Amino acid sequence: MGFSESKWLNSTCPHDCPSTCALEVERDEQNQIKRIRGRKKHSYTDGVICGKVANYAKRHHHQNRLTYPLKRVGPKGTGIGAFEKITWEEALDLTVNALKESSESFGPESVWPYFYAGTMGWIQRDGIERLRHVMGYSRQHSTICVGLSDAGWLVGAGVKRGIDAREISETDLLVVWGGNPVNTQINVIHRFQQARRLRKTKLVVIDPYTTETAKRADLHLRLKPGTDGALACAVMHVLFRESLADWKYLRKYSDNPQRLEEHLRERTPAWAAQITGLTVSEIEQFAGLYGSNPRSFLRLGYGFTRYRNGATNMHAVSCLPMVTGAWKYLGGGALYSNSGICPFDVSEIKGFDRLDQSTRILDQSRIGQILCGYPDDLQGGPPIKAIFIQNTNPIVVAPETNLVQQGFSRKDLFICVHEQFMTETAEMADVVLPATNFLEHDDCYSAAGHTFFQIAKAVVPPVGECRSNHRVIQELALQLEARHQGFLKSEWELITGMLEKSGFKEKIPLEQKSFEIDLDLGFRKMHFLDGFGHEDGKFHFNADWTHWGQGNQEMPKLPDHWEVRDSLSKEKPYRLITPPARWFLNSTFNEMSLSQDRLTSPKAWMHPQDLKQEGLENVAQVKLGNERGEIEVALEANQDVQPGLLVIEGLWTNRAFPASKGVNTLTSADAALPNGGAVFHDTTVWVRAF
Ligand code: SF4
Repeated sequence: MGFSESKWLNSTCPHDCPSTCALEVERDEQNQIKRIRGRKKHSYTDGVICGKVANYAKRHHHQNRLTYPLKRVGPKGTGIGAFEKITWEEALDLTVNALKESSESFGPESVWPYFYAGTMGWIQRDGIERLRHVMGYSRQHSTICVGLSDAGWLVGAGVKRGIDAREISETDLLVVWGGNPVNTQINVIHRFQQARRLRKTKLVVIDPYTTETAKRADLHLRLKPGTDGALACAVMHVLFRESLADWKYLRKYSDNPQRLEEHLRERTPAWAAQITGLTVSEIEQFAGLYGSNPRSFLRLGYGFTRYRNGATNMHAVSCLPMVTGAWKYLGGGALYSNSGICPFDVSEIKGFDRLDQSTRILDQSRIGQILCGYPDDLQGGPPIKAIFIQNTNPIVVAPETNLVQQGFSRKDLFICVHEQFMTETAEMADVVLPATNFLEHDDCYSAAGHTFFQIAKAVVPPVGECRSNHRVIQELALQLEARHQGFLKSEWELITGMLEKSGFKEKIPLEQKSFEIDLDLGFRKMHFLDGFGHEDGKFHFNADWTHWGQGNQEMPKLPDHWEVRDSLSKEKPYRLITPPARWFLNSTFNEMSLSQDRLTSPKAWMHPQDLKQEGLENVAQVKLGNERGEIEVALEANQDVQPGLLVIEGLWTNRAFPASKGVNTLTSADAALPNGGAVFHDTTVWVRAF
């Protein structure tokens, strides 16, 4: 690939962020990346992107980028000094031989291709699935992010879509529930500010601590973590009680509103106040505001679903716009995710034609237990003897770090990591392969937070010897004799093939370097005025959790507070939540001095009243712990955190903490109902002076 002129080129942000921003990237004559900005002409991005990606040139040209393959020759986990440079040929041989040996000795399920959302591009992220299915390797149940939120949304609405985010400009009331878009989705704030200027739109934030978004709110409800279902029920109680419910709409579009109203009679604001820690008047105030503004936009985040009761919380909250009939109005309704509106056939990309449903499926969040050989997690199958990782950093990201590290420390486990930087996971690998980033490869992207499907070509050639995920999968497939037409195609051929197969042939100028398709389905469909996603076309207040298995019968059928959270006790009197900081995105960017310069070091925030009670007022560093382990962390008094709660924004590397134990040492890998899902904010801990 040859590039020469200096100019601005279109691209798309690949990160695991709902905005999936349309970008413009400045490239000079030497193929250096200069500035990156949001595309002004893109009707969602509107020229606005976050500081992380605006500074991406620094990450792209970072001196610590991996630029050639490495073989580990020293102890695991001891940095780049434990590796020596090897050729691609040798690296691929080592990897292929290990995968073959594992497969031949223990069966193909002893190999686990493991990936997640380091890039959200369909080709570079999902090609590993094709290799998995063709080879019969163990499958992955992807539970780190949306397992609980998806289930909670789908059980009510029946399909994963909501209103177009551009309608924030048309709303009278924006409710940000369980998210902090100032840190994580700046475009929501940008659009809200426009709406506030033009229409005096009000902002309500529901969050256990006073986030940067909450500081901008007209009303902030600082509820106890994991009590969102109770708040939603009490708000609906008030809506019915005050005749603010739209009965005509309810009868037409929902399954059993009379039953819901009866059920909610006991769920009063006083009942919810006991559970949520809010005052009755705060709940009444919010309900009055919500009920008197049916043109209200509920922006549902992921944060409030990362609990053992996360799916029921999502379902309860998603019922609110049904009661007021908000969906009928421009700027009214809810948006959790619009990733379900893509109509494209991904079977070739993911190799679905070779998927064998009898192959075991392993829970991604329980990687620690799986690598440590817990029998229930292995489901009677072989131990994992070889793991091939792309797009994720489980030693930092996955729960129960001590177990994860123990698993990765096994001498009999072959580990290959394909990465952009020497992450803590890569440091445990036998072979490390250097990966391209989104500026160096072609890919296509859907979005959770808007309706555009975007396709972006590489802007510069790869640095050093970096290879794309797609190319590495192709090379592994070739040597493993994995036969599938998808391995023979370029990224571009896979993308255009998928579009053509899905009926978009005429609409796409394939010679273009980048393009986009607005998949917005129009007002009636995006607002479910032609019906919801279930067969009966209704929204379901009556949740059928058994869709995900008969074991879910204990879950509440109607919206409720389900008390299955991690229990507080005398030994563990505090709840801990671990929301995202502004300069990190999962573990991406935490290797950069950019992030660390701005944030300096991880801190646990605690209310001054708790500090006094614990005698920690003059203590700079504490230990936090529970049955899974303990960490050391700097302590800071913060009025923005409610009493009884600790907040550590991140996600920092383990090494950023004084004892090299990061926050996921404390989080649980319990698989929450109905379908698994990590419970990152559902953690109780003790606090001790250091
Ligand atoms: S806001 Fe999100 S999508 Fe946009 S540039 Fe930043 S990380 Fe990427």
